[in-house]
This record gives sequence, structure tokens and C-alpha cells, in this order.
Amino acid sequence: MDISPILDPLNDEQRAAVTAPAGATLVLAGAGSGKTRVLIHRIAWALTALGASPHNILAVTFTNKAAAEMRHRIEKLLGMPGGAMWVGTFHGIAHRLLRLHHQLAGLPPGFQILDSEDQQRLIKKLIRAQELDDTRFVPRDVQYYINKLKDDGVRPAQVKAGYDPMQQTLAKLYAAYEETCQRSGVVDFAELLLRAFELLRDNASLAAHYRARFTHVLVDEFQDTNSIQYAWTRLMAGNDGSPFVVGDDDQSIYRWRGARVENLRQFSRDYPNATMFRLEQNYRSTGNILDAANALIANNSGRLGKNLWTSGGKGEPIHVYAAYNERDEADFVLHRILEWNRRGGARREVAVLYRSNAQSRVFEEAFLSARVPYKVYGGLRFYERAEIKDALAYLRLVSNRHDDASFERVVNLPTRGIGARTLEGLRAAARQRGESMWAAAARMLSGMPEQKLPGELSAAEAFGARGATALLGFLQLIDRLDADTKGLPLHEQIDHVIQNTGLIEHFRKDKQDKGEARIENLEELVSAARGFDADALSPGTEGEKLPPLEAFLAHAALESGEGQADEWDDCVQMMTLHTAKGLEFPLVFMAGMEDGLFPHQRSIDDLEGLEEERRLCYVGITRAMKQLYVSYAEQRRLHGMDSFGVPSRFIEEIPAALVEEIRPRVQVARPAIGVARFRPVAPEAAAPGIKLGARVRHTRFGDGVILNLEGQGSQARVQVNFEHQGAKWLMLSYANLEIVR
Ligand code: ATP
Ligand code: MG
Repeated sequence: MDISPILDPLNDEQRAAVTAPAGATLVLAGAGSGKTRVLIHRIAWALTALGASPHNILAVTFTNKAAAEMRHRIEKLLGMPGGAMWVGTFHGIAHRLLRLHHQLAGLPPGFQILDSEDQQRLIKKLIRAQELDDTRFVPRDVQYYINKLKDDGVRPAQVKAGYDPMQQTLAKLYAAYEETCQRSGVVDFAELLLRAFELLRDNASLAAHYRARFTHVLVDEFQDTNSIQYAWTRLMAGNDGSPFVVGDDDQSIYRWRGARVENLRQFSRDYPNATMFRLEQNYRSTGNILDAANALIANNSGRLGKNLWTSGGKGEPIHVYAAYNERDEADFVLHRILEWNRRGGARREVAVLYRSNAQSRVFEEAFLSARVPYKVYGGLRFYERAEIKDALAYLRLVSNRHDDASFERVVNLPTRGIGARTLEGLRAAARQRGESMWAAAARMLSGMPEQKLPGELSAAEAFGARGATALLGFLQLIDRLDADTKGLPLHEQIDHVIQNTGLIEHFRKDKQDKGEARIENLEELVSAARGFDADALSPGTEGEKLPPLEAFLAHAALESGEGQADEWDDCVQMMTLHTAKGLEFPLVFMAGMEDGLFPHQRSIDDLEGLEEERRLCYVGITRAMKQLYVSYAEQRRLHGMDSFGVPSRFIEEIPAALVEEIRPRVQVARPAIGVARFRPVAPEAAAPGIKLGARVRHTRFGDGVILNLEGQGSQARVQVNFEHQGAKWLMLSYANLEIVR
């Protein structure tokens, strides 16, 4: 087989890493130096030169999108399908193992995944059930506590709560939570990882089987693995195995979720014979962008140390824009994108990155009104919308009757006369016998068992006569849906369930609260199912495949926003900085660069937290290939609150020589860091007749008076107080203002 397509597109160091002899290998290198490329070519190399078959490959990446891309590129390199390879995220692969070996893992066959919102809801219920004060035991904090323990591999029995009553109560909540999940047959995200780890740890022959199979275990973005993920990787690769891991300590951004950058050092200790490679040439960014990133990250301590250079040109300076407020910022970004587009750049080459999801809304509004297509990754994802979760809850119940979270969600949706009293009776009955709500309802409604436990009520007593009839109707509905949809193609199954549960009529009645949009979303769910490729999520040999409905439900729980817009539509890419990891774009905007927003308020006083934020900023800067715009607003309304911003200290850390400020700071509300560095430009009349106090007309906003003028040439902007629309900032060159005399 011709190996030149595998080795030719690599530099010497990359080639050395790709062709390294079997054995543990660590590639430690900075952003854009080709780590992911090396990993992909290593797989191709293993398949052609090291005698591996696709069956022997296990590759872990950070997102499902990255996994699909990786598979695609390997197949292209080799010109053959890579069917039996396992390529996925830690969560996806763990889920797969648990499905295949659910019995050994102690899970029911139809177990479901509990997403983070469902998890919080369940915890809230447990806090109430134990009659605890939920201002002291905040569901979010308890959730964090539980997930942290799981990430460290600690089960309730091993919690050392000591004598502190608070700790003891938390430990009790953890135990109650575990018991409920086990009974309902649901697993949360942290549980997926921990169970998959325990599965291999406790079943030596199974572990040996996988070790023999996966002779090549590869991990991308290794710096962001947590303890359990690393322990699991070691079990899969074995002590003498050949794990091939690539990472960058400067891009470790998930410490808050348990990631341990120390795993990079631990790896060298656990595999003392590991070969280490460093890559230093960056192929992604211009010289200025790279210099800015290098200067910024140099402020962090305890780095493993890397030197990145590029043979490309310096490129444009880093553009810094000081906006008046968040709308002005969005407007600015919008106009830059329009300009990029006008000059022949594609929209999909543009990324707008921000620190927190809530920042996307203002950009979405600006893009919508200018009809610029965009796609938001993450955020409120399609599968997290209430109506979608309602429909999925029905599907999950069809698949697993004991899923209490789903049961509770839809038992009275649409309303069918099952009130709070009936449900309370059912919960109590289920608790008493340690069974699921479904099991309790079915048992009691059938009058079983003859022998009651002390204090146990009959169905009529517990539910009330009307409640009992309604509950029976609900159980029959689910059984009927199950029977009627067996053997149907996935999208018909889903369509049938949506049509026959009464959800559509329920939302149709809802005239005010976006009922129509909700119905459209439900219809979208059917098309998502139609287009769903079960093989993409669950490739592998025949016996390893999941039933389509289960594969789809897992996809819905694990996937981010893929249902939203067509992946290949030419749209602006919007996402948080965290989500941007591993990706690259010719034009990048980093918005909301204000102290308190980025770095985030809760990290400012904590050195480790601040360094993590700085690494996040480094990730952001290094996503840019050709142009980078950084912006901040002097005034911002976020979460309904106004604040006055100070430019992020990270802007300060970029050497002034690399920066060009775009807007003159005419209206500095108060002194801000770095003011001296930026050269103000005097505003001048940008067009005849455009001056303070002039009356102007805008095609959309109507008539108004000019309040403010600033900038010059293509940067000139005016603030106009419109009679009906209030004050607005406009770019003069786009506004087409007409002077009214
Ligand atoms: P990150 O740290 O952001 O994940 P990375 O180290 O994984 O980055 P890649 O994404 O693999 O880097 O590569 C960055 C860019 O450089 C990609 O566009 C890739 O195709 C290109 N590239 C990598 N190596 C070479 C090479 N030897 N010749 C030409 N282009 C290369
Ligand atoms: Mg990468």
C-alpha cells in the first residue's frame, strides 16, 4: 500500500511521532501545531504499516463532531471504510460499553441517560422529600458535590462525612440519589464514566478481551481528561500497552469539571518508557495572532513550556473595538461579517466566540434582523427544549417503564386528571417498596399483592377513585404505544408517539406561549429521526449495534445542537470559547472582553481560576487563522442587569505593538485600563450635512436627530435619536441617511 499520502503532508517532527514504534507515546505541543493531524495520521499508519485492522482502533476525541470528522479523514486517507473502528467521546464510548454489557454493569437493558437538567430536577425532588431547606442545600451545589465525587470515583459507601452534620446530610442525599437512579434505570453523565470504569476494573476477563482487541488506544485533547477518564484509558490500554495521547497543557480549560492537567505528568510516570514528541511549528495562524497568544500565555506560571513559531507572514494586527454597549458590539460584528461576505469570504469561515451562553442572544437578534444565517452551538439546544423533552420522555417510557423522571414528566401532560394527591400517593407507595412509580402503579391497580405491608393503602385509597382510573388509562396508553410502534422505522415510531399522546393538541390550544413553534419543533424531531444515521453513533460490527430508538435517545442526550441547522449551510458559527476547542476559523471575533465577564467574576480573585481563564483566552485567540477581532462594551446589560465594563486584563496582556484600536474613545465614561495605549482619532464630518443636531431620515427607523458623531471614513458612526424608535448607533457607511431640511 502507498504510504506517501500518510507521510508526505507532515513535517519531520510530526512524521517521527506518526511512525513512532509501538509503545506509549505522548505528543505535547501548542495550539495549531498539528496534534490532531498527527493523531489521525497515526491511525492511518497503524492500519497500513503496523498491521492493525479497524477492529483494533479505539480513538477518543472531544466532541461527536470531531469524531465524525476524524473517521471521515481516515477513510479518505486510506480510501476504505473504517467501520469497525471505535471513534467517539469518552461519554459516547462509555455509553456503548454499558449497553453492550448492561448486565455485568448492573443496569437494566433499557437504561436511559439523565442529562444535567434532569439530574438537577431529580436532586431537587430528593431535597424536598427529605424535608431539607433548599436554600441551604441548593440543588445546583448538591449536583456539583455528587458529580465531583463520581469524577473522583467515590461511591456513597466510601464517602467520609465525619461529624459535620452538613457533610452527613450531603452524603445521605448522595446515597438517596444513587438509589433512585438505580431503581429508575437512569445514569447521569458522570455515572456513565464511572460505571464504564468499574465495569472494566471489576471484570478482569472483559478488560482482557478489550485490551486484546484495542491494540491502539488514542486520545486527543488529553489535557482535559479527568481522573476517571484517565484511569479508564489505562485499563483499556493496559500497563504495557501503547496509548497514544496528544495534548497541550496551555489549553486545559475544564478544571472546573474535574479535568486534571496533571494527567500529562502522571502519564510519564505511569509509562516511564513513553516516547515524548514536541511540535513547534504552528500552521494555523498569522504571526501577529501567534505572538499575541504567546505573550498572553507567558503570564501563567507552572507551564510545561513550549515555543511556537510560524513560517507565515505577520498578517493584520489584532483589532480591538470598544463598544458603547452590547448592541453596539453586535452591530459592529455584524457589519464586519457583511463586509467579509461582500469581499467573497464565506459565513461559515466566521466564528463569534463568547464566555457565556447568554451573550449569544444579542448577536442572534442582530443577525436575524439583517437576515444573516447563523448557527449557535451549545446553549439551549434543540434536545433541551421543553416540548422535545416531553416527547422524548414518552419515548423513554416506551423503552424503559421504570424511568421515574420521564414518568413524572408526562404522567399528567397533557392533563388527564392525575393530580398532586394521586402522585404523592404513588410516590409514597413506590418508596415503601423500593420500586419504580410504574411498578407501584401497575401492582396496586391490579390489586396486587394480596398481602399488604403495614400501613399500605389500596389503589382507591392512595389515588382516589378518579385518580386510579386516570392512572390506569396512562399505563394502558404507554403499553399501547409500545405495541403499536414495534417494528416501525424510527421516524414513524416517533411520529406515532407524538400524534397519539395528545401532545400536539395540547400545544395547539396554547395560543400565547409559542404553541405553534413547539409543534414545529416536534415535527422537526420527526425529521431529525428520519435523518438520523444510527450507524454514525453506533458503528462497529453487527452485534455491537444499538436498536435505533435507543441509539436515537442516547444521541439526543449526548449531542449538542446538531438538530438545529444544516451543518453545511453557509452560516456564521456562534459558540462559547469552551466549545471552540480544537476548531479553527479564518475570521474570529472574541466578544465581551470585560473584566468580570472574561475573566469571569468568580475567578478573578483566585489565582488558579484566573490562570484557567487565561488558558481559555489562549484557546480563543489560537482559533483564528487570518483575522482576530477583540471587543468589549463600556456598558452592558446581561441577565437583566446593567454594568459598566472595564476592558479585560487579557487585552492588556497583548503587546500594544500587535494591536490596532478601531474606535476612538470619544465618550469615555470613566477611566479604563489601557486608555493611554489607544490613540484617539478626532471625529470629523463624515459626509456633507451630517453634523450634530441635523435632522435625518432612515428607511426603517424613520426621522430623527443626530446626537453624536465619531470616527472617520468607513469607521464613522452616528447616534441618532429617532422619533419613534429612540436612540440608535449606526455605521454611517451602511445607514444611508438622508438629510431632512
Ligand atoms: P489544537 O491545539 O487547536 O487542537 P492541533 O495541534 O490539533 O490544534 P491541527 O488542528 O491538527 O492542530 O492543525 C492545525 C492546522 O494546521 C490545520 O489546519 C492542519 O491541517 C494544519 N497543519 C498541520 N500540520 C500541517 C503540515 N505539516 N502542513 C500543512 N498544514 C498543516
Ligand atoms: Mg487539535
